[in-house]
Amino acid sequence: MASSMAFADCSTSAPTRTFLFSRLRPRRGLPSIPPHLLRGLPVAGFRLPSLRITNSPSSFPKGNAFLRNKQGFRHFRPFTVLASVSASEAAISTEASAMVIDGKSIAKEIRHEITTEISRMKDEIGVIPGLAVILVGDRKDSTTYVRNKKKACESVGIKSYEVCLPEDSTEEEVLKFISGFNDDPEVHGILVQLPLPSHMNEQNILNAVSIEKDVDGFHPLNIGRLAMRGREPLFVPCTPKGCIELLHRCNIDIKGKQAVVIGRSNIVGMPAALLLLREDATVSIVHSRTKNPEEVTSQADIIIAAVGQPNMVRGSWIKPGAVIIDVGINPVEDATSPRGYRLVGDVCYEEACKIASAVTPVPGGVGPMTIAMLLSNTLSSAKRMHNFQ
Ligand code: NAP
Repeated sequence: MASSMAFADCSTSAPTRTFLFSRLRPRRGLPSIPPHLLRGLPVAGFRLPSLRITNSPSSFPKGNAFLRNKQGFRHFRPFTVLASVSASEAAISTEASAMVIDGKSIAKEIRHEITTEISRMKDEIGVIPGLAVILVGDRKDSTTYVRNKKKACESVGIKSYEVCLPEDSTEEEVLKFISGFNDDPEVHGILVQLPLPSHMNEQNILNAVSIEKDVDGFHPLNIGRLAMRGREPLFVPCTPKGCIELLHRCNIDIKGKQAVVIGRSNIVGMPAALLLLREDATVSIVHSRTKNPEEVTSQADIIIAAVGQPNMVRGSWIKPGAVIIDVGINPVEDATSPRGYRLVGDVCYEEACKIASAVTPVPGGVGPMTIAMLLSNTLSSAKRMHNFQ
């Protein structure tokens, strides 16, 4: 990891103190925080960049959310604040004002929903969803991802099947396992861990996965359907799906918004742009040949950054009040960390916190959502195959 590690950092300042506000969705039947607050528009003297989400003076009942400005507190009863804060943490930095989108808590909530559904399915029709994962080679990062996926499956009640093949396996061997899983009625999802060794043709291998079991959503038919009006993909790729789910669960409007996706990869950037388009956003894509990325991103109400460049998106790239979804996972040197490095996103988090209305942290933002969406796709597949509502 050290050889590919970047040194770039966007700030030398101390980490910002931002309250983790993990759930914006109100309980059923109760009103929500007006979305215009989340967009940073001034409402009744409140403007999100100047608002703080805080714990309350002791006279306020616990477990609700409070928005505070210079004039005092406003109380939004129905909100559940899942993250707790100590009294000392109530004094939040005056600089960082963005809501932190707590992907870890939202993913946990989704996994809980999946667990409940799987147990209902097992009770009613005796079916347990199954996910097969094929790993070729012994890349450390891939091995870790596969182990995490297996653990996540176990935690929700999905049965996992794992095949680990040596680096010098042939394409035919991988295709043979895919074919076996395609025919196995106990397997509802098949995932081939990428990247594959360079002697293999990724396209041949991904095309061999049955479209009905393509829980990664990488099959050209699934991507093609995603791009077409009036067609429905059987599966949507997990990371971009997780980004949109974060926006939904935080009640952030997408329709009619200017959205910019940075990156156009097949697995993140391109499907993220297609999904935003399906949600009626006006979408631009920035890539490595874009001449004026900062000019494009600074018009955006929503930015999804999936570049792989640490801290590339600076505060000056962000329109005040914009919502930032940071997909990037980049190791940067950090002598203070026991591992010698830490992970940062594609967005300069400290600067984004001061100008955006909401931002995902790295780690703890999009990452946990990716696995949650894989589990969700596997459950949907099993439900579809068994016609279980
Ligand atoms: P990728 O395949 O390398 O694609 C990177 C994209 O960024 C390409 O489209 C590239 O443009 C563009 N790009 C590169 N440098 C740029 C620059 N200086 N300015 C503008 N655009 C630039 O990467 P990926 O697989 O999409 O992953 C992107 C990041 O997300 C990585 O950090 C990865 O680790 C992370 N990731 C996270 C998750 C998660 O679960 N959180 C999942 C997947 C990936 P061109 O097309 O012009 O080359």
